[in-house]
Amino acid sequence: MSDCIFCKIVEGEIPSVKIYEDDLVLAFMDISPINKGHILVIPKEHHPASSTISEATAGRMFHIGSKTGVALRRALDYDGFNLHLADGACAGQVVMHAHLHVVPRGVEDGFHWNWRHLKYADGEAAETAEKIIAKLKI
Ligand code: AMP
Ligand code: ZN
Repeated sequence: MSDCIFCKIVEGEIPSVKIYEDDLVLAFMDISPINKGHILVIPKEHHPASSTISEATAGRMFHIGSKTGVALRRALDYDGFNLHLADGACAGQVVMHAHLHVVPRGVEDGFHWNWRHLKYADGEAAETAEKIIAKLKI
């Protein structure tokens, strides 16, 4: 895609600080990290959404995400990491080339996901699951 910033990074038209590259994926430093060392893992092919990425490439993204997370822990003394993928603008996706965030985490890093815990009424979880399963295409 000619106007995609991450495709331009893959093509070397925009500079990036690379961590890892193979035939399917590229991992590079996020320019504006949650914590220092924050990495993005992207498919080399342009996919706005995660669902169209092939199983091989999506698997490689997760694999490299986990491996780079461990490297972050060992190299920079972090305690853990989050793997995060925003799919769709409402989910917080700003760059429309799918990407997996590898966010290094420390016990006292002061960052908190704004996570909430709703409750299901009796039977509502199963009803909801039925609707999802009816539309699930693998
Ligand atoms: P998202 O909100 O999930 O779409 O995340 C997009 C991420 O891309 C943000 O964390 C940005 O800091 C990062 N980003 C945007 N432009 C660049 C760039 N040129 N190099 C590295 N990271 C970038
Ligand atoms: Zn792209």
